[in-house]
Amino acid sequence: MLIFRKPLEGVERPQMPADVVIVGGGPAGMACALRLAQLIDAHNAAHPDSQLSKENIYVLEKAREVGQHCLSGALLDPRSMRELLPEFEKEAPLDAEVTKEAVYFLTEKGKFKLPITPPFLRDHGNYVISLNRFVKWLGSKVEATGITVFTGFAGSELLFSDDSKEARVTGVRTDDKGVDKEGHQKSNFEPGYDLQAKVVILAEGPRGSLTKQLIQKFDLAKNANPQTYGVGVKELWEVPAGRIAAGEVIYTMGWPLTSYEYGGAWIYGSPGSGPKDNVVSLGYVTGLDYADPRLDPQRVLQEFKRHPFVAKLLEGGKMIRYGAKSMPYGGWWAIPPVAGNGWMILGDSAGFLNSARLKGIHLAIKSGMLAAETAFDALIKGDSSAATLGTFQAKVESSWIKEELWKVRNLHQGFEHGMYAGMFHTALQMITGGRGVRNRYPAKAGYEHMRKLADLPADGGAEAHMLGPAKGDGKLTFDKLTDLYHSGTKHEEDQPAHLVIHDTNVCNTKCVKEFGSPCQNFCPANVYEMVEDASQPNGKRISLNPSNCVHCKTCDIADPYQIITWVPPEGGGGPNYDGM
Ligand SMILES: Cc1cc2nc3c(=O)[nH]c(=O)nc-3n(C[C@H](O)[C@H](O)[C@H](O)COP(=O)(O)OP(=O)(O)OC[C@H]3O[C@@H](n4cnc5c(N)ncnc54)[C@H](O)[C@@H]3O)c2cc1C
Ligand code: SF4
Repeated sequence: MLIFRKPLEGVERPQMPADVVIVGGGPAGMACALRLAQLIDAHNAAHPDSQLSKENIYVLEKAREVGQHCLSGALLDPRSMRELLPEFEKEAPLDAEVTKEAVYFLTEKGKFKLPITPPFLRDHGNYVISLNRFVKWLGSKVEATGITVFTGFAGSELLFSDDSKEARVTGVRTDDKGVDKEGHQKSNFEPGYDLQAKVVILAEGPRGSLTKQLIQKFDLAKNANPQTYGVGVKELWEVPAGRIAAGEVIYTMGWPLTSYEYGGAWIYGSPGSGPKDNVVSLGYVTGLDYADPRLDPQRVLQEFKRHPFVAKLLEGGKMIRYGAKSMPYGGWWAIPPVAGNGWMILGDSAGFLNSARLKGIHLAIKSGMLAAETAFDALIKGDSSAATLGTFQAKVESSWIKEELWKVRNLHQGFEHGMYAGMFHTALQMITGGRGVRNRYPAKAGYEHMRKLADLPADGGAEAHMLGPAKGDGKLTFDKLTDLYHSGTKHEEDQPAHLVIHDTNVCNTKCVKEFGSPCQNFCPANVYEMVEDASQPNGKRISLNPSNCVHCKTCDIADPYQIITWVPPEGGGGPNYDGM
């Protein structure tokens, strides 16, 4: 029987007072911590008689090491970093400045280069980075200020003042360690801490698990469009030198997706550690609003690499790393309120991502800075109620975050009826400053687009080449387990499953028949399996391999019945995204 992870009841937990707790040490969380330290240092220098301490400011990061769960393309728009650390270009790990970009439309065997790169995909002046290395560096800056970063600690629950809708967030409970598969304490059991915080800042990245709790508790999304997502499946390759210049950027649309799915690919060249220009970051982002439950985003990437244009680039090369992560696509109208009584939400957790540009790092950093300024005011005033923290909302709305996202506020919704309608809407929106045919385009949650098998062609029709698992030739293309091996994923095996399925009967009786168990397809890490079980009405039962999980959150997002909740496993477990 499957036992799911939840904080143990009836255990005494260490209580720890805190001024500010930041959950998530990615670009948003680290920028927030660093900016807060800067403000406190400046205050202390100017006010020797009323010093503020940084001792009780904590960043919780579920990865064993800072940056280890960070995966991105990545191109960095330096705008917010120049505001945070004006000299950052002299010391940050920046792989190459973008010197050349191109956009292609791919058919099965052919390619058309767009004569003009659309303005939102012009990247001159941006940098190719590894987000993993960049965040490690940012984390070292935070630690140098005296702020404590607890790595290997996940925020597992929010603490509230009471059960009412007016409750205040009073802190964060960290993960219990040393709980076995059945949910019993092992000899090394350590209960999670209750960090009683004046300000809780959620910077958990896309589909944050505490953010989800908060949004549900206060019904924060009621006036927003449903958030929509894509999942990016990425591989890092070493290729023979000279194939692609460091700083060269290629975007593709089209194959292997058809005109009914949303998504596209990136290919970025960086110098790597080899002789010269020999590392390629490539990946395919598949919008998690496709219709066919048999579609497999990891297979989409494999089919993409088989295109002659890509295969030629990778020929004779070696895949060195794999990973996957979701990203919020919904844009401005999908952002919930981002501040309230004792809490703020940043970065991808809030939905600050420009999907037209495939960029969110600079927005995550900027939102972190604005939240830090708000938290600083709260510490000075001794008031972290909505009256003070609510000003974060206004700060975002009067910043360039809104200016940038407003121009693409309807972009993704324009593609709800396929690529051709999407191109028409995009063109219209570009002329009308993001408006298009109306100020706010509506949206449906991605999983609502998934159709039942009975309504789809049995042979897969035009999508057949993306359905079901990739076999892989072991050189250019890989099956999921081979790819997964290159993600360096490790978890404590003896712990309850952190993929909480609220009703496994739905998996065994309904989903298997209606949708053919799409979790087996959309999970890029082979976590979900339907195993033979004669006692079940359809002869199959859901089984989980939670240790494989790369924390992409796709299952939480794409499951058509919305019965899966991803919760953090024991802190320290997860992928190892060195160089990603
Ligand atoms: C495939 C892909 C390609 C992309 N390419 C680009 C690009 O080229 N340029 C660009 O600007 N943007 C790109 N983005 C988007 C960009 O990566 C994100 O917008 C950015 O990383 C968001 O930063 P964040 O700090 O909000 O979240 P994240 O980077 O996701 O960081 C969140 C951190 O919080 C930790 N965490 C989560 N939950 C908990 C918890 N409960 N307790 C403790 N720790 C927790 C995670 O381990 C992680 O370290 C891409 C995204 C993807 C998926
Ligand atoms: S189990 Fe869910 S979060 Fe984990 S890798 Fe699979 S889809 Fe992603």
